[in-house]
Amino acid sequence: MENRILGLHHITAIAGDAKRNFNFYSKVLGLRFIKKTVNFDDPGTYHFYFGDESGSAGTILTFFPWGNGIPQGRKGAGMATEIGYSVPQGSLEKWVERFEKYNVIYNKPAVRFGERYLTFNDPDGLKLELIESKTPDTRTPWETDEVKADMATRGFHNITLTLNDVEATAAVLTVFGYKLIEKEANRYRYATDAVENAAIVDLVELPTEKRGHVANGTVHHVAFRVKNDEVLAEFRNKIIDLGLNITPQIDRNYFHSLYFREPAGVLFEIATDNPGFMVDESLEELGQNLKLPAQYESRRKEIEATLVPLN
Ligand code: ZN
Repeated sequence: MENRILGLHHITAIAGDAKRNFNFYSKVLGLRFIKKTVNFDDPGTYHFYFGDESGSAGTILTFFPWGNGIPQGRKGAGMATEIGYSVPQGSLEKWVERFEKYNVIYNKPAVRFGERYLTFNDPDGLKLELIESKTPDTRTPWETDEVKADMATRGFHNITLTLNDVEATAAVLTVFGYKLIEKEANRYRYATDAVENAAIVDLVELPTEKRGHVANGTVHHVAFRVKNDEVLAEFRNKIIDLGLNITPQIDRNYFHSLYFREPAGVLFEIATDNPGFMVDESLEELGQNLKLPAQYESRRKEIEATLVPLN
C-alpha cells in the first residue's frame, strides 16, 4: 500500500468574505479550523484549512478567501463540481433542520448508488453533499457544541468531476490505481482499494457542458494523497510517462506537492503525509495562530494588518 495513491488528501476552493467562510465551515458545518495561514503566492490573503482534530488526509478542505466583491465562478466542464462528505446513517434529517436554522440553500435528500445524500451550497455558492455512506465510516469525527458525533462529518466520501468526455481522465485515475466500480446514468464511480475512506472519484459526463470558470464558489484543485516524497517522485514519473506536464516538487509547509492538469482540464495535485499540520503548532493549538512560512515571517506586522480579523 505504501507506494500507492491513498485516496484524497485535500480539496481547495475559492471563497469571498473570509469571516463568512470561517463561520460557515467551523460553526454551521462543525469542522475543526486547523490552520490559519496565507496564500504562499499572495500573502495579503488568507489560506484556511478545515478538517478533523489533527487534519488527517482525506478530511481537509482548504479555502482561498479572496475577499468581498470578487467575480463569481461558473461550475462547468473540466472542473471538480461537488464535494462529498461522509455522515452517519440517519443523520440527514438533523442536517436539514440545521440548514433551515442557518438559512442554508439545500435540496431535498435523494438516493444515488444506494446511498442517501443531501446537496447544499455554502454562502459563496460552492456545491457540497452530505452522504450516508453504505460502507461503515469508522473515522473519528470532530465534535462541536452543536454538531455532535451522531451527525458530524467523518471526512470526504468522494469528489465529483464534470467532464465533456470521461475517457482521458479515467486513464489518469487508472494510473492512480482507481477502478470503475459502479455507473448510474452519466455518473461513473471510480474507487481505489488502497484506503477505506475518501477513496471515491465520480466522473459525470456532460458532452455539451460549457467549460467551468474558477472564481468565487468553485473548486480550485483536487489533491491526492501519497505517503512520502519517494512515492511522490514515482508518481511524477508516471505522469510524465503519460505525456503530461507536471511541476517539480513544491514545499507547502504542511505537505510536499506536485501539480498537473489532467487532460480534461481539472487541476490535480499529489501531496504527501509528511510533515503534517503539527509541524508549527501543537494538536491543541491548531488553527489558533496566524502561521506564516519562513519567507514572510519578517513581514508579519504588515501582513497581519491587511488580513481581516475573524473574531
Ligand atoms: Zn492543494
